[in-house]
Amino acid sequence: MANLKLSHIYKVYDNGHKAVNDFSIDIADREFIVFVGPSGCGKSTTLRMIAGLETITAGDLFIGDTLVNDMEPKDRDIAMVFQSYALYPHMTVYENMAFGLRNRKMPENEIKERVLKAAKMLDIEDYLERKPKEMSGGQRQRVALGRALVRDPKVFLLDEPLSNLDAKLRAAMRTEITSLHKSLQTTFIYVTHDQVEAMTMGTRIVVMKLGYVQQIDTPMNLYNEPYNKFVAGFIGTPQMNFFDVTLKREGENVTVTFVNGDRVTVPYEKVCKIHPRYLDGRTTVTFGIRPEHISLARDGSGLKFVVTNVERLGNETIVYGKLGDQLGEFTMKDEGNSIIVKVVDRDDIEVDDVVYAVPNPNKVHFFDAETEVTLMSKIPPYNTVEATVSGGEMHLLNSRVAIPPVIQAAVKDAGRFELIIPPQAIVPGNDFRLKVARIEAVDDKRLAYLANGDSYLFALVGENVREGDEYAFSLLNEKINVSVDGAEVLAAVDDDVSITGSFSKKETRENGARVLHFFYNIGGYTVEAAPEQGYKINSIDGDACYKNTYRYAVNRQCIRQVRDDEPGLDCTVLELLDYGNVAFARVEAAGQEFLIHVAPDFRADQARIAFNSEDISVYSTAIDMKIC
Ligand code: ADP
Repeated sequence: MANLKLSHIYKVYDNGHKAVNDFSIDIADREFIVFVGPSGCGKSTTLRMIAGLETITAGDLFIGDTLVNDMEPKDRDIAMVFQSYALYPHMTVYENMAFGLRNRKMPENEIKERVLKAAKMLDIEDYLERKPKEMSGGQRQRVALGRALVRDPKVFLLDEPLSNLDAKLRAAMRTEITSLHKSLQTTFIYVTHDQVEAMTMGTRIVVMKLGYVQQIDTPMNLYNEPYNKFVAGFIGTPQMNFFDVTLKREGENVTVTFVNGDRVTVPYEKVCKIHPRYLDGRTTVTFGIRPEHISLARDGSGLKFVVTNVERLGNETIVYGKLGDQLGEFTMKDEGNSIIVKVVDRDDIEVDDVVYAVPNPNKVHFFDAETEVTLMSKIPPYNTVEATVSGGEMHLLNSRVAIPPVIQAAVKDAGRFELIIPPQAIVPGNDFRLKVARIEAVDDKRLAYLANGDSYLFALVGENVREGDEYAFSLLNEKINVSVDGAEVLAAVDDDVSITGSFSKKETRENGARVLHFFYNIGGYTVEAAPEQGYKINSIDGDACYKNTYRYAVNRQCIRQVRDDEPGLDCTVLELLDYGNVAFARVEAAGQEFLIHVAPDFRADQARIAFNSEDISVYSTAIDMKIC
């Protein structure tokens, strides 16, 4: 039994191919985690790094509380089951299962006990004296499972174990592996490209694409709330339908207009988390609707299409169609022009019928046409609020507040501008008051819908805030973007300061022993790195590390100003930025510009800053990769 932690794991192969990028997950003891994605997305590479069969380029891998990056596979207390069963052909089933234990010099009576127990669980007791070639594919795969089982590992890793089996056997083995997981009460990590396997077996699923994690979630959350179009299309069969549409808010409804001019409406309340800028009737967005969430009508409301094929499966009917009255040239993949509908209790639909698709408004999905990210995030990433200025005050959200000097400078003499406010920038305070229309629990957070005219301002609130309350709040001005006529004039301040520098080592002798010290160098300032960080950088980049440039990211809160006689980085102050609630100085040091926190009354033109090595994250500049 074990929990695992993968923290910012990267794999760059010797040929420079970046197969896994910034993979992080905490896996609880006894979870059944499935890595799923198309071939080549980095699933096996990740699994093999966990097994120790592949080196980890950067990042930390913990099994239990132990950092195992450099631990031999045999010491990791894991067992791996491969797609090719990798059984020894000249050995009997018993011998195959006993082989690993004999290598470990386990007493024969204990081996026998373990093999018999595993054989019983897998229902292969009667085959123990057979050779693998005398068994079916399914039986061989059980032996491969048995060989892992007898080792009683902390973690089971399974790499496409069922892909050599036929569909019926695969379905049966799925259930068996799930039951095995239940009875063993051990952590399972399972790799597959088959989304049905992933959905039916995993307690949580990691969806991957081109080396990047797309979403980590429970099967039902992936199905109901896909983070992007890729996940939406990958999970579920037949695949989700996608169409280019525009959206227009019209009072209580939002009209969805398809390219061919057909329209459907969705109540605004169902899609109120979509940012208003997408509801202008002009911006193209991607509309997604699953085949099972469409009903068919004969009359003229909905998305009109011609039926091209009907599959009657008994319990359900799959209807395929093409949009418009005319059938164009047939192509295999005709996204946006073809539609698939799954209906039950309908046997009246025939090929060449002209029918109307009516989406279930509770099940609609919308994605940004370019980034393909959902427009219906559980927590909307930002709110846009109109503001006007007069008499040194800005008016927004039914209140007037002093305009922060930085915002005034950015908007110049524009009388009207937009504030783009992430929910995290709305904090308890006394500047604004809005009524809490609704509170929704999102994971461990509470999302408040604050009534703002005919739409909502989304904020994260504490336990004490209730529906119907007036919520009194202020804004963290430094976390807000400001734009005038759609063009950004002020960007939010990041949490981290990034400064590039070099890396060096120095050797000393302590009590006769050689001791290595490592340093981050920024301009004339050096910070001694923790030895393990230094070794990590050295092990990733080799001796080139002493010539490379690194990006050092320091949490701004952890940067402190120090006296001139203390070690630090000398900065020239270029500008003071008064945000009202907080002040920064824009400084120049080591040829770079960045912001540091300063006291509101700070007026000096020089500052010396320092930070601790534990507050520094190191990134490679050659390839975008977090090293430590
Ligand atoms: P998956 O298991 O999702 O099919 P893999 O983890 O096997 O994908 O591979 C991820 C990517 O890394 C692929 O593009 C593959 O070609 C590449 N790759 C795998 N092994 C190596 C290797 N030894 N050297 C270079 N590239 C590799």
